[in-house]
Amino acid sequence: MFHCHKFEPAVSRQVVERAKEAFLGGRTRPLEFRLQQLKALQRMITDRQTEISTALKQDLNRSQYDTPLLELISLENEIALAIEKLAEWAAPRPVEKNLLTLTDEVYIQPEPLGVVLIIGAWNYPWALTLSPLVGAIAAGNAAVVKPSELSEYSALLLRALLPRYLDKDLYPVITGGVSETQELLKQRFDHVFYTGSSAVGKLVMQAAAQHLTPVTLELGGKSPCYIDKNCDLRVACRRVTWGKFVNCGQTCIAPDYILCEPCIQGRVVEGIRQTLLEFYGADPKCSPDYGRIINQRHFSRIMGLMEGYTAVLGGQSDASQRYIAPTVLKDVPPQSRLMQEEIFGPLLPIVTVSDMDDAIRFINEREKPLALYIFCSDKKAVKRMIDETTSGGVTVNDVMMHCALSSLPFGGVGQSGMGRYHGRHTFDQLSHQRACLLRSLGMESVNLARYPPQDRHRARRARLALRSPMIDFSKRTFVWAVTATVIAFGLAIALLVILLIASGLNCTCFYWRGFYY
Ligand code: NAD
Repeated sequence: MFHCHKFEPAVSRQVVERAKEAFLGGRTRPLEFRLQQLKALQRMITDRQTEISTALKQDLNRSQYDTPLLELISLENEIALAIEKLAEWAAPRPVEKNLLTLTDEVYIQPEPLGVVLIIGAWNYPWALTLSPLVGAIAAGNAAVVKPSELSEYSALLLRALLPRYLDKDLYPVITGGVSETQELLKQRFDHVFYTGSSAVGKLVMQAAAQHLTPVTLELGGKSPCYIDKNCDLRVACRRVTWGKFVNCGQTCIAPDYILCEPCIQGRVVEGIRQTLLEFYGADPKCSPDYGRIINQRHFSRIMGLMEGYTAVLGGQSDASQRYIAPTVLKDVPPQSRLMQEEIFGPLLPIVTVSDMDDAIRFINEREKPLALYIFCSDKKAVKRMIDETTSGGVTVNDVMMHCALSSLPFGGVGQSGMGRYHGRHTFDQLSHQRACLLRSLGMESVNLARYPPQDRHRARRARLALRSPMIDFSKRTFVWAVTATVIAFGLAIALLVILLIASGLNCTCFYWRGFYY
């Protein structure tokens, strides 16, 4: 669909230039403008739900109920939060001062970076493309939006809709495939926000390095799911089954594989079997709730991963529909291909480990994952597993839900990515935290200590001033301390006055007494 037009690099250069000019014109600086754009984006999602839903049905066979659940509600929450909190996020943030800066203004001012390039992913094409845009708008940036060509119906719809709601120059959409992305990456941006595979993530970072452009890389990898024998297996299996097979396994934070002890493997398989029946019926191919693989390339890739293994559940496929049944494979050897690359499809391998220590060792021997899931009722063991491993995020006794909390930063570590977003974290990620120190020209005598000619006394004074403790004037404790000091001082003076008056009266008394006697 995208290849019917001849690609014009000059056009994409013009679009980026226009966004730059519009940004430099200062339109995005006032918070009212950002709020107005955010509200327009909110309106777009509300007005166009049906069209969005239809596009997702065509791209991923997504059910109409899953569209709000998996994609639009989180997006609407992100927008609502940004609208509510924008003034607070964008306000100067006072910081601690030392003795030298006691009378100065010291704060961090979040400010826009400029033009952000957002390269979206196809598996949740609306949420993963527009959530970064919410933060980019809130932070006062311009943004060039490049949706994934793989979810082509969503990409075309986004290209048609966005200019009808948002400022056309500041937030243009560029559609296209690899060559369009490569052409865009040659240009100079102030930030590149990329969601996709680690392999392309490296190319994005390489291209951005030519301009020293900072990047956010939201990548993937193999997210382990450890199921301890000490947990409610029925609930664990239901939650894992949902997380693995929703969107046909094409979720970056889906549990990639299960780790469990051999003694519970059979019960885990049975729990998943029952849940699959409950979710998708006897034939998931006929279920309106079960998705399809995005394209033929990914279909063949996933089928290739299964080669040589017999599925204990599922295993059926239909290339004409890009359908692969929810599939579970047990006793999968750690060195198999299935365990070497990210699955990103509806295959769930089970690898057995001897105990929790073995599971921790297994996880730590591999790349740092985007997410880690632990099902276990023993809180101490859970804490130990969290302490002794690392991952972008972790959810205990559930899957994927850490991603739904906008107060938590979402992002990878190591090979699973860099940078974080959601809620205020997106705003901060796409802002420059400018250090501001506003001094007065007075009190020059205090500064003499740092000027030449230096001597022992000056050096000592400078050292004392520079090593003075940091005081946080914005903290409530500081306000309390000042109030308490003022009250104590006032009381002391009052007491002194009373004593003086009293002693004065006594003197007078003595005088009168003396007079009498
Ligand atoms: P991909 O990384 O192959 O492609 C993404 C985009 O990159 C495409 O739009 C394409 O035009 C562009 N691209 C491809 N090759 C390129 C090249 N050589 N030079 C420049 N640009 C190029 O996407 P994919 O592999 O289909 O996506 C799946 C991956 O994305 C999985 O690994 C998944 O875990 C990850 N993902 C991560 C998140 C997250 O939030 N962390 C979300 C969704 C997907």
